[in-house]
Amino acid sequence: MDSQDTKQKLDVIEAEIASCQLCPLYKTRRKIVPGEGNPHAEIMFIGEAPGAREDEEGRPFCGPAGKFLDQLLDSIGLQRADVFIANTLKCRPPANRDPLPEEKSACRKYLEQQIRAIGPQIVVTLGRHSTETYLPGLGGITKLRAKLYRRPNGIYYFPLYHPAAALHNGSMRQTLLDDFAKLPAAIEKAKAESEKSKVEKIKQEKLF
Ligand code: URA
Repeated sequence: MDSQDTKQKLDVIEAEIASCQLCPLYKTRRKIVPGEGNPHAEIMFIGEAPGAREDEEGRPFCGPAGKFLDQLLDSIGLQRADVFIANTLKCRPPANRDPLPEEKSACRKYLEQQIRAIGPQIVVTLGRHSTETYLPGLGGITKLRAKLYRRPNGIYYFPLYHPAAALHNGSMRQTLLDDFAKLPAAIEKAKAESEKSKVEKIKQEKLF
């Protein structure tokens, strides 16, 4: 798929989000926060939900947690423009309350469409909410963090602590920095595994 195709797909998804009324958050938000970044990113980050700054600017992670995310990216030689960043919700929950299960499930289709359009090697779920959404029933973030998971849809997930949670907690901050350092190896592993399963599929197809 060429760049233009993916960009067009992302624009179509964004237009759909702009007119979405699947949950009541459209009534209280100022701007939608669809997500942004490289349409061909190898890594896609999924945070929790827009906060006050994001709601004003229409961009994900533009407050203090975003600055920390930039530092984390820098620590592995990446910039925002290299990756794609989104959230489990596209609209801000009032007073920054936690996303409700029905809001997460209403909004999920947009993330699924974005993941399909971008085709990242790895999806990094940041924090409890996005990890629960994509790896349900496996346990909490402390148990799942910094390990690679493959879902039946062939997508690889790598959960990490949320930068906002780690920002003011010294030991969690260091853990997040250490876990982030494992991300390049996790991407290589995901690439190798998905190559292997492509070869397996071809072998199986040849049997018929
Ligand atoms: N900003 C976001 O866009 N998402 C979060 O989860 C936190 C801050």
